[in-house]
Amino acid sequence: MRAGVRLSLLVLSCLLFLATTPDHEQPLRGYSASSSRSERDWEGKFRALPEPQNLRDYMQRLSARPHHVGSPYDKDNAEWMLAKFKEWGLEASIESFDVLFPTPKARALELVEPSKFTAKLQEPTLALDPTSNQQAEQLPTYNAYSIDGDVTAPLVFVNYGIPEDYEQLDRLGVSVRGAIVIAKYGHSWRGIKPKVAAEHGAVGCLIYSDPNEDGFKQGETFPAGAWRPRDGVQRGSVADDPIYPGDPLTPGVGATKNAKRLELKDAQVITKIPVLPISYGDAEPLLAAITGAVVPRAWRGGLGLTYHIGPGPAKVHLKVKSNWDLKTIYDVIGKIPGTTNADQWIIRGNHHDAWVNGAEDPISGLIAVMEEARAMGELVKAGWKPKRTIIFCAWDAEEPGLIGSTEFAEEHADELKAHAVVYINSDVNGRGFFGAEGSHTLEKFINDVARDVQDPETKLSVWKRAQLRQIGRSDENAGRQEARSRPDLRIGALGSGSDYGAFLQHDGVAALNLGFGGEDGGGIYHSIYDDFYWFTHFSDTDFVYGRALAQLAGTAVMRLADADLLPFEYGNFSDTMQTYVKELKTLAQKSRDEIIERNRELEEGVFAAMTDPRVKSVPPTKEAMPPFLNFAPLDNATESLARASAEYKKALEKATANGGAAILKASLVEANRALAESEHKLTLEEGLPGRPWFKHFVDAPGQYTGYEAKTLPVVREAIEQKQWKEADAGIVVTARVLETEAAHILSVAQKLDAAVR
Ligand SMILES: [Zn+2]
Repeated sequence: MRAGVRLSLLVLSCLLFLATTPDHEQPLRGYSASSSRSERDWEGKFRALPEPQNLRDYMQRLSARPHHVGSPYDKDNAEWMLAKFKEWGLEASIESFDVLFPTPKARALELVEPSKFTAKLQEPTLALDPTSNQQAEQLPTYNAYSIDGDVTAPLVFVNYGIPEDYEQLDRLGVSVRGAIVIAKYGHSWRGIKPKVAAEHGAVGCLIYSDPNEDGFKQGETFPAGAWRPRDGVQRGSVADDPIYPGDPLTPGVGATKNAKRLELKDAQVITKIPVLPISYGDAEPLLAAITGAVVPRAWRGGLGLTYHIGPGPAKVHLKVKSNWDLKTIYDVIGKIPGTTNADQWIIRGNHHDAWVNGAEDPISGLIAVMEEARAMGELVKAGWKPKRTIIFCAWDAEEPGLIGSTEFAEEHADELKAHAVVYINSDVNGRGFFGAEGSHTLEKFINDVARDVQDPETKLSVWKRAQLRQIGRSDENAGRQEARSRPDLRIGALGSGSDYGAFLQHDGVAALNLGFGGEDGGGIYHSIYDDFYWFTHFSDTDFVYGRALAQLAGTAVMRLADADLLPFEYGNFSDTMQTYVKELKTLAQKSRDEIIERNRELEEGVFAAMTDPRVKSVPPTKEAMPPFLNFAPLDNATESLARASAEYKKALEKATANGGAAILKASLVEANRALAESEHKLTLEEGLPGRPWFKHFVDAPGQYTGYEAKTLPVVREAIEQKQWKEADAGIVVTARVLETEAAHILSVAQKLDAAVR
């Protein structure tokens, strides 16, 4: 052995020594010094276990054939995962539900005037891509939960088809009443587009993928590059999930064999007008046939034509008809029972169903969950005894509307409210940056976990890389300042779009959504090209970010499962609630200022003077002066939260002083139970006005955004919709919820004090 090598081995063993005996280190949050050392030891062993080759093998198997709800391979995958969970030592089973899942029976789209064109509605097989030819098993291109319909009408281009686009159309004097609208994908969840179109009197809706969004304007198209080819189509559900997600026939209850079901005609979430998604190949001749006013600059897409609004002379015939059958779905559940705190559950999940082969969505995230389960099975065999019960879930039927997880969360609502501590979700995973959204009471916790996981390409911690990116991306000094000095990165609120929804917003279980991304754009979402070939050429090709996700989420699960005291934290939470209240005040003021200014300009004749008299336009209407809102109840509530979180911090510091000798001896059953309940206090059984399925008063998906979260939603949406009375009432009820939370946090502090006294 050469001297140099010996020296570096010596250095290495010193480093190892330092790494395994971290006396200098702060104990993990919620741990005594001794339990923290043991936890760090087990977590270190865990993070060495996930293997990129395993991830690759799972993906190849799970995405080998189309596996949408009701397909043979969907069930086959579920059974394969069940066998794997069992092989790895988990107590595993499949839970089934019977849910409404429409599949296409007839689809037609043709231009009938001024010329004839019949849309292909078909994604072509590519010789390079070995699974793209599995046509017999592929679901055709369609939007699930579109109502059946057969309409012929003039076409109107409506940009993204969101409410502000219709305001603009009003100003241009264009009505969509009796028309079929054509909207671009993007800027909202797709189900919002037919909903808003129907509210404005349209009789049909087409949604297409413009090359500006995810096609050739972004990069080379598949198979030369990652982006959407000419005939690629985004499938997807258009049910009105912001009213309630899950099975449309069984809102609020599990879709078991004998569940009481609504009649199809009474299911509120089915669209009011027929909808069909199309490629830009099929959209181009339709758009080219529309005349009328040229679109506003911001509405232009990426096709080589002048975009017009219409209506007409393009007239299209649209026909959509579905089989409205119930399909059996298969949730795969695997448990590692806890030891001392078995009645507290840490739940980890991802969906397994896809629109077609779904290598990226969802298999890229699911394989990490599977590798976590395998690795934890190994640790159990090596003597690891988690305090709390760990439950791994592979959900079915996420794509049609978060159905597998929602039915589970509805069926087991009472147990989950009593036992579930945290639900950790993933969905699509790719190359790039660590991302987390979720309950702000877990913000500090997940920041700490992210500091312990290494980014596979830069070798920085995933936390450090995300922090540096935030500094680099902030275009304001204040943002850079905060990214440099705030100890924790802020995590975003959860809106909707994956399986955390029912846990958080219906059952009040604290939740996180974790993943990597930002460096692997592409345009194969919900098409036949989202497959193993695409993923292994254009995304996390060596599966190292899959491994990083397994390390990150697995560490989080273990740390929650083993903690002496659950690591919820209320300082960042109360700070964030203050930020939200500030945002609401700004929003109300801005809305008021805009109305005052517009009314003044109307009186001055500004609009009449500015518009081209030869171009048709309609001035905005004068609006009533909005009243000032009374934010005092929310100010008082956030003040109470700040005081309560300071009290809890004091109690925790006392309990964990001197290596946490006090928490080692104390019975923390009461304190832990109260900590687990704190998210539930943010819910009210009556639910949000107009959509009682959603019970969380801090976080909900927007009624007109779908994916995007609306925080303090009752107040925010009332202000956005200029419903001032509702906004004032919303302030009172939201403040009451936050006051209840503050009182609860104080009681947790007292319980902890009493336990360690
Ligand atoms: Zn997904």
